[in-house]
Amino acid sequence: MLSRTDLRGRTTTPAQLRAVLPRAEMDVDAVLHQVRPIVDAVAARGVEAVLEYTEKFDGVRPASVRVPASEISSALSSLDPALREALEEVIARIRRVHADQRRTETTTQVVPGGTVTEKWVPVERVGLYAPGGLAVYPSTVVMNVVPAQIAGVESLVVCSPPQAEFGGLPHPTILAAAALLGVDEVWAAGGAQAQALMAHGGVDTDGAELASVDIVTGPGNIYVAAAKRVLRGLIGIDAEAGPTEIAILADSSADAVHVAADLISQAEHDPLAASVLVTDSVELADAVDVELERQIAATKHVERIRTALGGSQSGTVLVSSVDEGVRVVNAYAAEHLEIQTVDARAVAARIRSAGAIFVGAHSPVSLGDYCAGSNHVLPTGGCARHSSGLSVQTFLRGIHVIDYSEDALREVADKVVALANAEDLPAHGQAVTARFPQKGGNTA
Ligand code: NAD
Repeated sequence: MLSRTDLRGRTTTPAQLRAVLPRAEMDVDAVLHQVRPIVDAVAARGVEAVLEYTEKFDGVRPASVRVPASEISSALSSLDPALREALEEVIARIRRVHADQRRTETTTQVVPGGTVTEKWVPVERVGLYAPGGLAVYPSTVVMNVVPAQIAGVESLVVCSPPQAEFGGLPHPTILAAAALLGVDEVWAAGGAQAQALMAHGGVDTDGAELASVDIVTGPGNIYVAAAKRVLRGLIGIDAEAGPTEIAILADSSADAVHVAADLISQAEHDPLAASVLVTDSVELADAVDVELERQIAATKHVERIRTALGGSQSGTVLVSSVDEGVRVVNAYAAEHLEIQTVDARAVAARIRSAGAIFVGAHSPVSLGDYCAGSNHVLPTGGCARHSSGLSVQTFLRGIHVIDYSEDALREVADKVVALANAEDLPAHGQAVTARFPQKGGNTA
């Protein structure tokens, strides 16, 4: 079922490995020519342009972009009690983990009288995108909002595509999740037009202001990623998220039923999703193929899953040992990496690159998607080599505060002058010696 890449005894450098490993391709450049006009139109014409694109792409025209407060509270009152209980549990667990990510101010005394303090200041206003095309993700609302709230962000808006079947409102579970989190500002907009509106702001159909944000976070499809690329700089972004991906490093001790179920669970997101098994056991690979066939037939989104698993982005990679497998998954830098081997904790300790690591037989990615307490907005497409998932840190800015006394500055003045002269920037040195005429500074 899964295509196979046989790397046994042939694992080379990380760069060479990356060239042969299955990976989802998302050519953001290819849609920029479609997305730039959307962003430009929203910048120029605001809500009027948003509503035009909403009609075109979402097949509905909401009465206003801002969702009335009454709709948010009524979505919560109509929420299925079991789903409410589950969301409350997710919120509690996410809060618990993310509360530990708070940063504390540090002050370093570099020399007597000379200190550098690093203070952490939350971004003032953030826009959080909850996708709503192929599926709706109330869990993503929680994963975005909680870290922002814990960081101390004072103003935030959740944006999610309007749904024709709900009269142009975002999906009721998105609204209910916002209500549970105490978020009272939700906009009904999706795709590139939503990112542009959050970046530029606008005036709603009733004349109310939709204030622009400083940073936009949250996953989305290729149009969302392209809009973020266009808008980066005007606003901050978390990442250009690509299709979701799972890699599983497994040996012969793994249960093929579990491995197949986990590969399928990520494939369910998107026909472009990547599910990759890395194993030193041909028997396990064979058993997983049999299990995939059996389990897919019983799932709801059969076609989407078959497309994702049959695509060139998914497959089995055969290695000659778990050691070789560790080299492969470190080079691959998966968004989600499961370790299903003997002594999984020791293997996990050797992983250097992954968005999140799921250890052992009882930590499936689905747990992390919802209820582990970890964040599920994670770097895709190999970006885990240099980036982290969404966290409290995403919404904080570290600012150095430099505070030197006259004596502390005098003590180091000659060194500043020497460095400034070496860089042919003598006025830099002069800015210090001007304070100490006895050192030859020009005080005029
Ligand atoms: P989406 O909300 O990202 O996109 C829907 C929007 O796309 C629509 O509102 C529409 O405006 C726009 N659009 C559709 N066709 C268009 C076109 N031809 N031109 C311009 N705009 C167009 O929802 P989605 O499509 O379901 O994608 C969600 C993605 O987010 C999936 O890939 C999913 O795997 C991913 N996701 C990732 C995480 C994570 O944490 N990494 C979590 C949830 C979802």
